[in-house]
Amino acid sequence: MSTDTLTLALSKGRIFDETLPLLRAAGIEVLEDPQTSRKLILPTNRPGVRVVLVRATDVPTYVEHGGADLGVCGKDTLIEHAAAWGGSAHVGLYEPLDLGIARCRMSVAVPAEFDYVRAVHQGARLRVATKYVAIAREFFAAKGVHVDLIKLYGSMELAPLTGLADAIVDLVSTGNTLKANRLVEVERIMDISSRLVVRPASLKVKGALIRPLLDAFAQALGHAAPQP
Ligand code: AMP
Repeated sequence: MSTDTLTLALSKGRIFDETLPLLRAAGIEVLEDPQTSRKLILPTNRPGVRVVLVRATDVPTYVEHGGADLGVCGKDTLIEHAAAWGGSAHVGLYEPLDLGIARCRMSVAVPAEFDYVRAVHQGARLRVATKYVAIAREFFAAKGVHVDLIKLYGSMELAPLTGLADAIVDLVSTGNTLKANRLVEVERIMDISSRLVVRPASLKVKGALIRPLLDAFAQALGHAAPQP
């Protein structure tokens, strides 16, 4: 492992856009725009620092296995990743900072005409479609609600409209997607934001590069510097 280069894994879109100001606060400018460039490895103004563009759900994998030294991904992605690989929070990732970006919430939503409160009260078995099975399983288990989880990879809103499910568990930001599909939010499971994740082995051997970055991010966010 070269100790003088740093690779940061980001996903395109909101996380990339909202991480840029933090990088800037650390003196790092990404030199290409992923909207116009087809490159997956983007150079920065710092010769040893580069950004790799990966799918949001692949960020923890890249960081855990050394494809990147650090990355940014949603708390939802981290929880699902940990659950998929052993069910514990420890997946060989250090999570020093809540960046407070790409904020949204994980919620339960149902068709406007579905009486969710009554169904839960009556102990009905709910069919719940979601991409976030670990979060949904944990939430309904804690409530004592029996559910059949139906794993989907996208367009969860469609599931109740087609009779595939009674409810969905999905990320909600403005609520417009739910509204457009005549779904209503009936429970807020948790608030979600993006986290900085670091590979512990990288922190050990590249601490001189990573720590100033963590400090600059923390300062830009108004947090105390993380003390791993
Ligand atoms: P909205 O219509 O603004 O409530 O956004 C909801 C849609 O955007 C759903 O399809 C969500 O899965 C997705 N979404 C909202 N916020 C996020 C986020 N922070 N990260 C990933 N997907 C999101």
